[in-house]
Amino acid sequence: MKIDLADIAGTPGTRGRYSISEHVAPTEELFCTGPVVGELEVENSGSLLLVRGKLRGVVRLRCVRCLGSLECPLDVVVEEEFATQDTEVGVVTMDRDEPETSAMTEYVLDVSELVRQQLLVNTPMAPACQEGCRGICASCGQNLNDGSCECAGEQIDTRWAGLADLLPRDTGEKKQE
Ligand SMILES: [Zn+2]
Ligand SMILES: [Zn+2]
Repeated sequence: MKIDLADIAGTPGTRGRYSISEHVAPTEELFCTGPVVGELEVENSGSLLLVRGKLRGVVRLRCVRCLGSLECPLDVVVEEEFATQDTEVGVVTMDRDEPETSAMTEYVLDVSELVRQQLLVNTPMAPACQEGCRGICASCGQNLNDGSCECAGEQIDTRWAGLADLLPRDTGEKKQE
């Protein structure tokens, strides 16, 4: 996610607005279902580039209860300062004698990592696919949102397992009588 600052990089006091629509490279901890979009304003204060704005992305998460996937829209507020030297070509290297041929187009600020971090910070710690998700059965793995499983019944019966054990023994004793 790179912002081309060619139009403001060489002139302290200027600012520019930049539309953002960028795919965030998926990692193990962050998967965006589409581009992160929004607008960033960058102000060149001389030694610093002030970056402000709001972005929105949709991340795919795993429900902590049923492990089903869910999509969660995240709003990200960006408010960050970069040293002007953080642009890939430092302002200091600009050829002041030949402004027309200077490498203005190469003043590029990469906000990928910043946006990635902000998305992570805003990601819910324990996302659930729905309110009151019933999770999965610990025994057979059945998604209990889709319906009860066989073992759900058995688990309830375990309270009466003692009685159930008596039955065959009783009948057995009766048979012996
Ligand atoms: Zn769930
Ligand atoms: Zn089960």
